Amino acid sequence: MSVYTSNSDYSLLAPGPVNLHPRIREIMAEPMIHHRTPEYDQIFKRSLENLKSIFQTKNAVYIHPSTGSGGMESLVVNTLSPGDEVLVIVSGKFGERWAEMTEVYGMKTHRMNIPWGEALSIAQLETFLQQHPKTQAVLCQACETSTAVLHPIEAMGQVIANYPSTLFLVDGITALGALPLPMDAFRIDGLVGGSQKAFMLPTGLSFVSFSEKAWKKIETSKTPKYYFDIKREQKANKKGESFFSGPVPLMKALDWVLQYVLSYGLRKHFEIIRSRAAATREFYQSVGLSLYSKFPSESLTAICAPTAIDGQKWRLLLEQKHNITVMGGQDQLKGKILRIGHMGYITPKEMKRLFMASVDVLNELAPGSIAKTQAEIETLATRCAEKILEVP
Ligand SMILES: *Cc1c(COP(=O)(O)O)cnc(C)c1O
Repeated sequence: MSVYTSNSDYSLLAPGPVNLHPRIREIMAEPMIHHRTPEYDQIFKRSLENLKSIFQTKNAVYIHPSTGSGGMESLVVNTLSPGDEVLVIVSGKFGERWAEMTEVYGMKTHRMNIPWGEALSIAQLETFLQQHPKTQAVLCQACETSTAVLHPIEAMGQVIANYPSTLFLVDGITALGALPLPMDAFRIDGLVGGSQKAFMLPTGLSFVSFSEKAWKKIETSKTPKYYFDIKREQKANKKGESFFSGPVPLMKALDWVLQYVLSYGLRKHFEIIRSRAAATREFYQSVGLSLYSKFPSESLTAICAPTAIDGQKWRLLLEQKHNITVMGGQDQLKGKILRIGHMGYITPKEMKRLFMASVDVLNELAPGSIAKTQAEIETLATRCAEKILEVP
C-alpha cells in the first residue's frame, strides 16, 4: 500500500504542505454550499477580519484562491510597473522565483545573491539603496524555505522606511502565522502568506495585505493584471463579497482555524512551533549532526546529512519504511540536507517517531555513523519530544 493512502500512521512533516488538524479534515468533507449565501458571507467576513490579527495590521487583508506563488505575483503586479527598478534578495529557490517574476513583468531587476544558508547583511542593503535611490521595491523572503534561513525583516523594514518611494515586499509564506512577523510594526508594505504552510490548511489560498505606502503605488501601477487585480477585489470585499467564486471547503476550514488559533492566542501558537524547532535542533545536534542554516528559522529545520550518505536516500527510506515525509534539499543542496517542517498539526509523539526513524535509516545507510546505542537514542528522543508543547 502506498504511504500516500489515508493512514493514521502517516506523518507529513514537510515545510508545507502539512498535517491537517482532524477538525479541518472533517470540515473539508462537509457538503458543498454556494458562495453567494448569507452563511458563506459570514465565513468570508469573519476570515478577513481575523486575518488582520494574524498579519498584525490595521490594513485590509485579501484572499486569493491560488497557491502561495499567486500571492507573490499579486504583490508584484499590483504595486509595480514595467521598467521599475527593484531589488530582489536571492538566497535560495524562492528568491529566484521572485526575481524571475519581476523580470517576466518587465521590471529592471537587481539580484542580491546571498550564499545559500546565510542571511542578508543590513549593511549590504543600506549600501545598495544609497547607490540606487530609484529602487521602487525590495523583495525578500522572511524565511527562505529552501535553506531554512530567517532574514532580518524588522531591521530591513527600518532601513527601507527611510526611502519614501521604496516598498518592502515580503514573502512570509513560511513565516507569517509561524513566528512573529507583525506587518505594521516591521514596516512591511506588502506581505503574503499561504494556506498550506503556517495556516495548517490544504494548499490553495494565499493571503495578501498592503500598507498605505503601497496603496499609493497600486493607484498608479501600469502592470497588466486581471485575476490578481486587488482593486477589483477590494471593491467586492467592501460589499462583503469576493469577486471570484469562493473555494468553499477551504474557506470554511480557514474560518475555523483562524478562530481556533486566536482562541488560544498567537503567542502560544508561536511558542508551540518554537518548541518543535528547539527539540529538533537539540536532538539532531546531540546525535552529532549539524544544522545547515546560519540563521535558522523556527518554522523548519535543515539538518546536514552525514557526508557518507545520500540525503535523498535518507528522505526516501523515511517515507518508504517509516511512513514519514520530510523534504530533502533542492538544487545545490540536493542530497545534502533534510528539511523538517514545524508547522501544521504535529504531536510530540510524532516528533519522537521521526527522531527515532531518522537515526534508524542513517544506521541502515551508513552503519556506525551515529555513535550512540539504541537505548541512548531512545532516551534522547523521549527527552527532546517531552519538551514539545501539545496543540491545545
Ligand atoms: C511554499 C512557498 C512558496 C509558494 O508555494 P506554492 O507552491 O506556490 O504554494 C513561496 N515562498 C515560500 C517561501 C514558500 O515556502
